[in-house]
Amino acid sequence: MFSWVQKRGMSESSTGLETPLQTPNQRCWFILDPIGILCAMATWALVLSGGWVLVRDLLIPSNNMLYIVANGMIFHLLASLALVSHLRTMLTDPGSVPLGNRPGPDTVSYCPDCRSAIPKRAAHCAVCKRCIRKNDHHCPWVNNCVGEDNQKYFLLFIMYIGLSGTHVLLLLGIPVLCSYARGEWDSSSSVSPPAPILFLLLVALMGFVLSSVMLCTQMCTIYTDKTTTELLYQNTHSPGNRAKCANLKAICGSHISLAWLSPFHSPEHYKMSEPHNTA
Ligand SMILES: [Zn+2]
Ligand SMILES: [Zn+2]
Repeated sequence: MFSWVQKRGMSESSTGLETPLQTPNQRCWFILDPIGILCAMATWALVLSGGWVLVRDLLIPSNNMLYIVANGMIFHLLASLALVSHLRTMLTDPGSVPLGNRPGPDTVSYCPDCRSAIPKRAAHCAVCKRCIRKNDHHCPWVNNCVGEDNQKYFLLFIMYIGLSGTHVLLLLGIPVLCSYARGEWDSSSSVSPPAPILFLLLVALMGFVLSSVMLCTQMCTIYTDKTTTELLYQNTHSPGNRAKCANLKAICGSHISLAWLSPFHSPEHYKMSEPHNTA
């Protein structure tokens, strides 16, 4: 595997001039992993095809202009925010440790692959072929590691996917429940939705269930100030003693605002005011 940033990282390591906070969001970062690229493309295909089926087979047949416009706008707003968040998660350096990183006070081990001193809470990713600071996990659906510099976008991605799925499930479920409440069902009634609606239901259900599980896991890691790996394997590197709000600010930005909900906004990192791990 090869990431575009690796070439630049080599030169950085040879000069030894890079500081980790210098340009985390300005790098060209893309992981050339075929499986990850396929998964990322599948994510986009499911969201876009879901939106198309929703409009064509569910909204337009209602012949209610207000219903079509309002629900079309809500879905496409949520789906667009999810896809922008996906892109930003995929194309943002998650917090790579510079190649050839020199040992420092926070060094806990040495990575022979990166030839770098590994600071506390960093871990090597075999797919990205880099050590990533506060490496939560590698997610093939966003074709990138989720680390301290892109976790906000990942959180937004799963949140907006979950909201999109919930919206579609409500659009599909409410008419059925209303019909049942009106007593239009009896023992001989059955549900046999056409194939496109069945596809929409499955996509929405998958998005809702997966994102709910991921969001719960992520909130749990934020609450305990641990990465998913640390949570699963009880890694002793985790300090786990920061205030809960500080954990969230470290990911989303130092000031609570609507910008937390925007994938277009790059959080000015709370950690920038703290001593950094790497030398
Ligand atoms: Zn490494
Ligand atoms: Zn990775």
